[in-house]
Amino acid sequence: MPTVADIIHLVEELAPPQYGLPGDPGGLQLGEAKAEVRRVLVALDLTGDVLDRASAAMADLIVLHHPPVFRPLTDLRADRPHNRLLLRAAAADVAICAWHTALDSAPGGINDWLAARLGLSDATPLLETGREKLYKVAVFVPVGYEDTVRQAMGDAGAGYIGNYSHCTFAAPGTGTFKALPGATPFLGRVGELERAAELRLETIAPASRLPSVLSAMLAAHPYEEVAYDVYALENQGPQSGLGRVGKVRDTDGSPAITGRDWLRRCQAIWPSVAASSVAASTTAAPSVCVTAGASRLDALFSSAAGCSGDGGRLVDTAIRRGAAALVTGETGYHDRMLAEEEGLLLVEVGHGPSEAVYLPILADRLGERAAAAGWDVDLEVVLH
Ligand SMILES: [Zn+2]
Repeated sequence: MPTVADIIHLVEELAPPQYGLPGDPGGLQLGEAKAEVRRVLVALDLTGDVLDRASAAMADLIVLHHPPVFRPLTDLRADRPHNRLLLRAAAADVAICAWHTALDSAPGGINDWLAARLGLSDATPLLETGREKLYKVAVFVPVGYEDTVRQAMGDAGAGYIGNYSHCTFAAPGTGTFKALPGATPFLGRVGELERAAELRLETIAPASRLPSVLSAMLAAHPYEEVAYDVYALENQGPQSGLGRVGKVRDTDGSPAITGRDWLRRCQAIWPSVAASSVAASTTAAPSVCVTAGASRLDALFSSAAGCSGDGGRLVDTAIRRGAAALVTGETGYHDRMLAEEEGLLLVEVGHGPSEAVYLPILADRLGERAAAAGWDVDLEVVLH
């Protein structure tokens, strides 16, 4: 049975902590890393309703998007409303973890998913916050097994260079080893020096994929003990950051879309939240509305942006990046004023719905990884 730490490791493969903004708390916030996990609740925020659901489902762990411990706590008095939820969770012996901006920014995370649903092509982060670290992985493989190991590493995310995957380089050589008592060598005999025809198979992997790449490589390699090296590289990895901006086409393939069709595309994403089992609750209710730039509804444009959560502060960036439209969770008065002034078609869907729409995807991805690890874990999504 997996532990809280095991499930956290799975989530961190999907939302590597290095993608989070500096100072954004993430990971385990409450509970015991060694505790066993049978049932997991996936939700946006820590609320009384989420704790009720956790109790009803006998959940051992709640995976949240927004960290409930965000600012340094000055006390844990039970007469403070926010503290009451944390104290109640502690009393219920349920662990809580959260990822926030790491999940927003990570490849395949909320904003990548949103960009795909919005039909953005050549999408890049709207606000660049960093570049992913790259690593070189070099592994020594007996001749004849290089294809198996290359395939496994490539499938796990190694060897991506531009529009190419499974990129490796292989140099032949001779490996030597002497198996000691207790070993069961794939080649040679215990106590004798073995010389094996091997290939030095090298590739690159981004930091977020490195653990999966190494696990896949070790699983595919025939040796009992695998010799491999991992080096940090100075090469620049892919950009990471918040929101996405890209080209947008009409559904018929023409290289521009009208504001009305863009709005329909947004409406097609968020009503799916309303179709959930908690459609009646307030924050999940669809609230797609144009809050600025309505004059653009009949105009054609070919560049647009999306940002989950509070994308108001990216209105200026979206305009500078050439986007004609931005869909986001929420904005402030001055953000809307700026958008109106500059003719940016601004569509708001509500902070919660802009992120909650991804929670079923997160649960599915977690479930697949848990199943692949051989863990029997129940996952339930709470859409607030
Ligand atoms: Zn948020």
